[in-house]
Amino acid sequence: MASIFPWQNLAYKQLQQSYEQQRLPHGVLLTAQSGSGVELFARNWGQFLLCQNQTSSEHCGRCKSCLLFEAGTHPDFHWIERHEDKKQISIDQIRALTSQLHETSSLSGWRIAVIYQTEKLNANGYNALLKTLEEPGSNTQLLLLAEQRSAIPATIISRCQQYNLQATDNQQVLNWLKQQSTDHNDESISFALQVSHGAPLDALQWLQNNEQDSFSQFLELLSDVYYGRQTLLSLSDCKLVEPYQLLKWWEFTVSMMIKSRHIRFTSENKSLQRAAELAENADERLLFRLRDNILFQLKELREGIALNMPMQLDDLATQWSKIRQA
Ligand SMILES: [Zn+2]
Repeated sequence: MASIFPWQNLAYKQLQQSYEQQRLPHGVLLTAQSGSGVELFARNWGQFLLCQNQTSSEHCGRCKSCLLFEAGTHPDFHWIERHEDKKQISIDQIRALTSQLHETSSLSGWRIAVIYQTEKLNANGYNALLKTLEEPGSNTQLLLLAEQRSAIPATIISRCQQYNLQATDNQQVLNWLKQQSTDHNDESISFALQVSHGAPLDALQWLQNNEQDSFSQFLELLSDVYYGRQTLLSLSDCKLVEPYQLLKWWEFTVSMMIKSRHIRFTSENKSLQRAAELAENADERLLFRLRDNILFQLKELREGIALNMPMQLDDLATQWSKIRQA
C-alpha cells in the first residue's frame, strides 16, 4: 500500500479497483476535515496514476514520471488552490486549468487536476468547473478536495464519485498516534486528539510541539481572569500563541466546560479537570453565547475577513469575565 494514512486505505483500494477495471471516474470528491491528510492522499493517488512503472498498488519512485512528480514539475499534474491573498479560487484559475486539461498529455497518458478546498470556488467558478466535469476529455481525472460535502453544489456532487476520508475510527487513530509519538502516554495522546477535534495530524503536531505546556499556561490565564486575579487585558493581550490558535483553545475550553455540566469526566487529565472546576459556577447560557461568538471569529479569521482582532479579543475577554456567577 502506498504511504498514506490508515484511515485512507479503503478509499485507496476502491479507487485502485476502479482503475484495474478501467472504469475510473472522471470526477472524484474526497471529503475530510482539515488535519486528516487528504492532500497527501491526492498526491499519492496522482503519482500512482501517472507512474510509468507502477506495481499493482504503488508508484515506482524511479521512472521519469515519478521523478518529475517528486520534483513538483510533472506537466500532467495540476494543483489548484486559493491564492494566499485571495478569499476564493478565481474563475481564471479554473479556465486556465480547463485549457491545460484539453492539451495532449505529455508523458503517461493521464492528466490529473486536484482542486484543494473546493468550497473556495464561487458560483462562476463552479459553473466553469461543471463544464470541465461534463466534458473532461479522455484519461482525465479531477480530484475535488473538500471539508464538507454540504458546502458543494448538488450539480457538482452528482457528477463525482464520492469518498469519505474522514478519520472516524477513534481507536485506529489513537493506535496510529501511539506509533508516531512513542514518548507520550495514552492519556496525553487521547487528550491531544480531543483538543484537535479528532483531526489526527493536528493531534500529532500538538504532541510533537509539546503544545500541552502552552495550553496549560493559557488555561491558567483564563482561570485567573475568571476569578478576577488578572485583568481582562492580560487575556486579550495574550501572546502565547497566534490569535487563531488562541481562539481554538478557548473554544475547546468553553466546550469542555459545557460538556462537564452534563457528563462527569473520567479522564485524569488536569486540563479537563480544570475546565470542569471552572464550569461549576458558570452561567451556561453565557457559555453557549461565548462559544458561538468565538466560533464566529474563527470563521472570520479562516475566511480572511476578521477585522480589528485586538478589539474582538477584548470583547470576548469581557464576555468571559461575566460568565462566573457570584
Ligand atoms: Zn514511477
